[in-house]
Amino acid sequence: MKKTIYLDNAATTKTRPEVVEAMLPYFDIRYANPSGIYAFSQNVKHEINKARKTLALSINANEDEIFITSGGTESDNWALKMSAHEHKGGHIITTKIEHHAILRTCKYLENTGVEVTYIDTDEYGNVNVSDIVNAIRKNTFLISVMTANNEIGTIQPIERIANIAKQKNILFHTDAVQAYTNLSIDVKRQNIDMLSTSAHKICGPKGVGFLYIRKGCLSTPFINGGGQENGMRAGTENVAGIIGFAKAAQIAMSNKRYRISREIELRNYLINKVLTQIPQSRLNGSARNRLPNNCSFSFYNVDGATLIAMLDEQGICASAGSACSSKEKEGSHVLKAIGLSDELIHGTVRLTLNEEITKGQIDYVVSCLIKDVKELRKLTQM
Ligand code: PLP
Repeated sequence: MKKTIYLDNAATTKTRPEVVEAMLPYFDIRYANPSGIYAFSQNVKHEINKARKTLALSINANEDEIFITSGGTESDNWALKMSAHEHKGGHIITTKIEHHAILRTCKYLENTGVEVTYIDTDEYGNVNVSDIVNAIRKNTFLISVMTANNEIGTIQPIERIANIAKQKNILFHTDAVQAYTNLSIDVKRQNIDMLSTSAHKICGPKGVGFLYIRKGCLSTPFINGGGQENGMRAGTENVAGIIGFAKAAQIAMSNKRYRISREIELRNYLINKVLTQIPQSRLNGSARNRLPNNCSFSFYNVDGATLIAMLDEQGICASAGSACSSKEKEGSHVLKAIGLSDELIHGTVRLTLNEEITKGQIDYVVSCLIKDVKELRKLTQM
């Protein structure tokens, strides 16, 4: 079987072997429910607390500000729905390029009477801070802007937006699912009130994440039941998941400098090759201000879905935009928001790298792209 070249790391990542190893004992050896009062349980509880400390440290938060969830989607839902609940209606500011976990939660909240302003971006996906300022109303209780975009990689000026929110006494939430451990995050220095993360984007397991909630920002439980997560999110803990998440975060933070510089080098190598060797191709998102591993290309006169199928046949995993929206018939809302034509939206391929990819593999991917794009363009001319 041909070796797979996995270039869809924004969709999910391979769980690191050290993470799997750290998780395994929690299935069949240390399987106690952490709520028990005997030592078997209390030892597990102790390990969860250690994991929470590791996660808190990774964003300069306090341990009691980290609430374990099932991932990015739940964290986003929690932040928005509970803020709206505690403010009993009012106004939210967000952007048109957020993940569906934010946008569809906003739509839901609109049906309950909350007003929402969806801010436009420029053609590179940059949010203009003055647009946020101009959208603020007397009843604005929350601003939610993602740290970096999952489709086009553009990084937002969240610190400046958070400072404005603080001055105006408005909560600031950021979806940092793609940025966590890839960009510097310090919730204290950056004045972030709430922040969403997900383990499976950082070589941890699927189905676990956390929502950071600055002390005092929210007090209503998101899930009612037992007293887990300080009474804010009931349900027996996903112990192995939490242990694996902390291990993944610890490794990601410790190898960050090497990993990021390697990814940026590979990313720039790939971008340069594609743009110089494939005519009528373009890079989506900001050229400089982008996630270290994100390459989003659009090709004129090419059907992206067919291109992805051809790449698949050649052992390459690529995505049309975000994995989460790959089943949706409508073109990407992010590409639409940055002003791409329907033709370009449907000619878009996202390649997201990891530090283990080699330049030889990138050369192979580019050679496949050159050949496949040529072939597809020939077909459209027939
Ligand atoms: N937010 C962003 C920016 C994402 O990229 C994703 C997943 O792709 C999510 C939220 C959802 O995260 P999860 O898959 O952990 O629910």
